[in-house]
Amino acid sequence: MKYDGIILKFGELFLKGKNRYRFIDRCLLTVKNKLAAFPELKYHKDNDHINIFLNDIDHEPVLKQLDFVFGLHSYQLYSGCESEIESIKAMTLAVIKTIENDGKSIKILAKRSDKRFPLGSPQINQIVGNYIADNSCVPINLDKPDIKIKILVHTDRSYVVSREHPAAGGLPIGLNGKSLLMLSGGLDSPVAGYLMMKRGLQVEAVHFDSPPYTSPRARQKVLDIAEKLAHYMPNGRFVVYLVPFTSLQKEIFTHIPDSYGMTIMRRMMYRIAEGVARRINCQLLSNGESLGQVASQTPQSMYTINSVITMPTIRPVACMDKTEIIEVANRINTFDISIRPFEDCCTVFLPKSPATAPKIEKCTEYEKKFDWQPFIDSCITGVEKIVVEAGKPMLVDQDTSEEICALL
Ligand code: ATP
Ligand code: MG
Repeated sequence: MKYDGIILKFGELFLKGKNRYRFIDRCLLTVKNKLAAFPELKYHKDNDHINIFLNDIDHEPVLKQLDFVFGLHSYQLYSGCESEIESIKAMTLAVIKTIENDGKSIKILAKRSDKRFPLGSPQINQIVGNYIADNSCVPINLDKPDIKIKILVHTDRSYVVSREHPAAGGLPIGLNGKSLLMLSGGLDSPVAGYLMMKRGLQVEAVHFDSPPYTSPRARQKVLDIAEKLAHYMPNGRFVVYLVPFTSLQKEIFTHIPDSYGMTIMRRMMYRIAEGVARRINCQLLSNGESLGQVASQTPQSMYTINSVITMPTIRPVACMDKTEIIEVANRINTFDISIRPFEDCCTVFLPKSPATAPKIEKCTEYEKKFDWQPFIDSCITGVEKIVVEAGKPMLVDQDTSEEICALL
C-alpha cells in the first residue's frame, strides 16, 4: 500500500515548558539528519507529533531509518484527504479496499483535533462506519478488531491511519549530556551503550587495547560494534578512543600478586576512563558490568574498584539477566559480532583465581609497589581517536599480533 505520510508521536512528553520545546526540536533535527538521503520529504512539527509528507517516496526505507531515532513513541502511516466528511468517507473506503481481501476485521476510530469541524468523533465513526459497511465486505468488529482505522481530523487536512508501529522510545540524544562508555568486544557493553543513548545521552567509547597481546581481530570487533551503535547517533558517527594499555598491563602483571591483578587492572582502567572523560567533557562513565557475572562484578569488587574515581558510573545492564541482554544485543545487531571468538585481553594477563571480595587497603598497599601515575598519564594522553560512521565499517590492519600472543 502506498501512503501519503507518517505521523511520529513523541515519547515522554510529560516534560513541561522550555524542555518540551527542546525535546521536540531535538527530535525533529535528528529525524531530518537520519532522513537526509531523502530530500523530497517535507516536515511539519506540532505540539505532540511530527508529520512527514512522503511526496511519493517509498515508506519502508524511511521507517528503517526512523528505528534509530530515540524520543519517538510510535509511527502512524496515513493517507491524507481534505477535512470534509465526503472526502473522509471516500479516503477511508479507498484504504479499506486495499485490505478488503485480507480477511481482517476493522474498527473505525475518529479523533477530532479541530473542534470547529461540524461533526463530533462518535458521529464521524457512525457515518464512516455505515458507509464502509454498505460499500465493502470487510467485517466490522467493535470489541476486538484486527486493525484499527484511525481518522485524525485536523484543520486543513485529515489523515486515515491504517498502520501503526511502536518506535524506538527513550529520549532524543543530546538533551542529557555525554557519557564515556567502557567498550569491550563482549556482549554487555554494547547493550549498555545502546541503553545510555536511549536515555538521551551522547555516548563515546573508550577501549583498552594491549597490542601485541590483543588480537587485531578483537579491535575489529570493537570497531564493528561501534558501527552498529553509530546508527543511533544523530550524526551517524560513533567515536572510539583506543587506549594504549600494554605497558601498564605488563607492570601490573609484574608487580601485583595474582589474586589482585584483575582488581588493580580495573582500578587503573577506571582512572584512565575518568581522565579521558574529563578531557572530552563527559559527566558520566558507563560500562557493561552486570551484578554477580564475574569476580570483578561482586558488590565488594565494584566498591573497591569504583572507589578510585569520583565521576558517577552508570551500569545499565547491572540488573539484567544474560538472556535479557542477549535479546537487546540481537535487536541492535551486535550479538553476532560480540560472539566472535576473539578475547579482548590475551589470557596471559588473566589471574587464575581473582579475589572476589578485594579490600581497598590491600589495593592501596599493592599499588605502592610501582609508580603507576606516569603510566596512567601516558595512557590518557596517548589515546587514538577513531570516528566510525554508520554504514561504513572500518577495517583494522591484520598483523602478526596473534602469533606473538600465542608464543607467550
Ligand atoms: P562485556 O561485559 O561487554 O560482555 P566482557 O564480559 O569481556 O565484556 P567483563 O569482564 O564483563 O567484560 O568487563 C565488564 C565491563 O568492563 C565491560 O562490560 C566493559 O564495560 C568493561 N571492559 C572490559 N574490558 C574492556 C576493555 N578492554 N576496554 C574497555 N572496557 C572494557
Ligand atoms: Mg561482561
